[in-house]
Formats: sequence, C-alpha cells, structure tokens
Amino acid sequence: MDPTYSAEAEAFRDKMQAFLAEHLPADWKGVGALDGEAASQFTAEWRKILSDNRMLAPSWPAEYGGGGLSELEQVVMAEEFQKAGAPTGGSNDPFSIAMVGNTILQWGTPEQKAHFLPRIISGEDVWCQGYSEPDAGSDLAGLGTKAVLDGDEWVINGQKIWTSAGHLANWIFVLCRTDTDAPKHRGISFMLCPMEQDGVDVRPIAMISGESEFNEVFFDNARCPRENVIGEVNGGWAVAMTLLSYERGEAAATMPIMFRAEIDKLIVLARERGADSDPRIRQRLADAHIKVEIMRMLGQRTLTQYLQGQHPGPESSIFKLYWSEQHRVVTELAVDILGAAAMTPEGEWPLGSFHTDLPGSANSSASWVGTFYNARAGTIYAGTSQVQKNILGEMVLGLPKGPKVTPPAK
Ligand SMILES: Cc1cc2nc3c(=O)[nH]c(=O)nc-3n(C[C@H](O)[C@H](O)[C@H](O)COP(=O)(O)OP(=O)(O)OC[C@H]3O[C@@H](n4cnc5c(N)ncnc54)[C@H](O)[C@@H]3O)c2cc1C
Repeated sequence: MDPTYSAEAEAFRDKMQAFLAEHLPADWKGVGALDGEAASQFTAEWRKILSDNRMLAPSWPAEYGGGGLSELEQVVMAEEFQKAGAPTGGSNDPFSIAMVGNTILQWGTPEQKAHFLPRIISGEDVWCQGYSEPDAGSDLAGLGTKAVLDGDEWVINGQKIWTSAGHLANWIFVLCRTDTDAPKHRGISFMLCPMEQDGVDVRPIAMISGESEFNEVFFDNARCPRENVIGEVNGGWAVAMTLLSYERGEAAATMPIMFRAEIDKLIVLARERGADSDPRIRQRLADAHIKVEIMRMLGQRTLTQYLQGQHPGPESSIFKLYWSEQHRVVTELAVDILGAAAMTPEGEWPLGSFHTDLPGSANSSASWVGTFYNARAGTIYAGTSQVQKNILGEMVLGLPKGPKVTPPAK
C-alpha cells in the first residue's frame, strides 16, 4: 500500500481545488444544504458546467466528450469533489456514464460508441438498468425476459424490477434471453432499448421512506433496433459482468471520505442529544470510528492496486461488503442516539441517501432516519452481502462451491 501521491498529482489537486473554488457558489456548504428543488436545479446547472469542462466522464477519450484523465488524476478529482460536497454528475449518471457508458466504451462497435457516448454527455440519452426480475436477482442468469428477432428489430416481452430512477430515463439497458435452448448463461444478450414507446410501461414502487425511487418496467412487444446489441448475440453474460464490475468497483476513493464525515456528524449528534456520556454509546462510537479507519486503509489498498494498473477482481467484494454492513450498523446507532425522537423525525429528509446523507445536510432526526431506511438497501443492491461472501469464499479463498439450491415450484 502506497498512499503518497506524486508531485504531479498534487499539482493536479491544486487545479481541481481552483476549479471548484471558481465555479461553486461563494457560500457553498455542500449539495445537502439545499432543499429538494434547489438541489435539483443546482445539479442540472452543475452538470452543464462539468460537461462544458469535460469533467462529466473524466476517464473517457476526448473524442467522445470525455476528459482523457489518467487514473491518478481521476482519483484526485473524485477525492476533491467529495471533500467539497459537489456532485460529479446528474441523478442517472451512475447508470449512464459509470455503467452503460463505460461498458459501451469497452465492448461497443465504433458506430455504437460514436452514436451513444456523446448523447450521454449531452444529456440527450438518460439511462437506467434493466437487470433484476421478480424471479431473477442474485441468480441473475435465471432471467426470463425474452427478445425475438423480427426483421430489423428485436421484440421484447417480460418484466424488470427495482429499476432505480427508471422514471427519469429514456433508455434502458436490458438483459434478455435470446436463446431459450442454450444453458442459462449462454442464451442472454445485452440490449439498448428506447423507453419512449407504447411497449414499455414504467410503474413506481413505493418505498418505506414514502419515496418512489425505483420502478417495475414491463415490456409488452417493445421494439429495439437490431444493431443495439452490445457484444455478441447470446454473449451478453460477459458484457453484463463487465458492467457489474463498474457498479461494484468505483467506491474506494470516495467512500472513506463520505463515511468519515458521517461519523463526525454522528459524534456531534451524540453530544447535542446528551448521549456522549453513555458508556454503551461511547463504545459503539469508538467501534464505528475504528471501522471507518479500516475502511480508509482498505480503500488505499484498492487504490494502490488500481494505480498500478490492476483492475479490481473478486476481492473488490471485501469493500462492498464492508461499507454496506458498516453503514447499516452506524445508522442503527444514530437511531439509538435519537431514541424516541426517531419516531417523530423532524427537519429535511435526505435527498437520496443510498450511501450517507449528502454533504452539508442538517444533523436532523429526519436526515438520520431517512439514511437509516436507505442503509438497508446497500446490503442488497449490486450483489447482496451473502452473495459477496459467496464470491469471497469461492473466488478469493478458494473454498468449495456452495450447494446448489433448487427453488420450490410455484
Ligand atoms: C436500492 C436498490 C436499487 C436497485 N436498483 C436496481 C436497478 O436499477 N436495476 C436492477 O436491475 N436491479 C436493481 N436492484 C435489484 C438488486 O440488484 C437485487 O435486489 C439484488 O440483486 C438481490 O436480488 P433479489 O432482490 O431478487 O433477492 P434474492 O436474490 O431473491 O435474495 C433473497 C435473499 O436470499 C439470499 N441469497 C440468494 N442467493 C443466495 C445464495 N446463492 N447464497 C446465499 N444467500 C443467497 C440473498 O442474499 C438475500 O438475502 C436494486 C436493489 C435495491 C435494493
């Protein structure tokens, strides 16, 4: 592990800090300090500034509207944006840029790259992820949505579920079964499907917090151009796994900063609510502090490997498992510190806190209760904690494969 950055990296850090100082409002406290509407408006305007300065997709080549930054520069940029509490893109950009954009860059034909990537940067195409189905989550390869070729178009029928921000998207990347006779991993294709058509129906799912952040998506004879398959027809599993590595691997630089800020906020909460003299709360706070320090070191190890050109393999499950379980524990502690006040939350609710609440947010009971609800999701999406443990057991420790369980007939 070598967490020291070169002089060039530190010079680039100065450049990033100057950019942020020039473009963020003078009294900037972080995007979480804005209320819902102001935050949406700020994020839309900020996205435009990032796009004009080629900072939306810092790793992409300039010909597609990217920043062409080195890996070290990308890490420094992510750190500085996180410290400043500045968004790195719009609400769907994790799907549009980090997931499908990077996947098209790796697997797409020259025509697909030239067509889709600039439209992502401009915001013309906004993406969501159509992987999970009611009967295919952890066992993703068991998916049943079918696509059949009809002339120059694929005709898609089936259902996806838990489609985050699907109501804000106009394109969906869909895993479809295109060969029903092949073994389950070999008959899947990765398709890019337009959503603004009669055959695609998006229905919101209400969450425990009262929000509807994700959706069910129904395909009823939906049409998708023949050329919109990424990779080989029936070869979509390898493409799907590439995308998941982007979904699981990007956090090492930013998570330790976010979780450090969360613990600091929690200690202030304990003081404000008079819980800092309770020996059991003190022990749990100390434990949480230690866990964030371990997370920081795990992050540095991952970053060191990344900067040496090694891309995260199955051991990236350690980081995913660690931050998501830690977040669950910390938010439970927050609710215990709040005590009865957690039952009548007050103040601004989080604006989408699947990780910590946004930088600059109030230390209110509603911020913590909303984050507590959403913390459960982190141990499920991008592979559940049990699945991460299976990956670590089988692929990192080399233990025998777990027994295959046949689901009961319905
Ligand atoms: C906030 C959120 C956002 C999401 N966004 C999206 C999205 O945008 N697009 C999308 O496609 N999906 C999305 N998902 C879905 C997510 O990928 C699935 O929920 C996840 O893969 C788990 O699948 P499942 O819900 O079907 O649970 P299941 O796979 O049915 O699992 C149920 C339980 O069984 C356990 N389990 C299953 N298999 C094994 C095994 N082999 N060994 C041990 N334990 C096992 C699991 O760990 C879990 O505890 C999202 C989920 C959440 C929570």
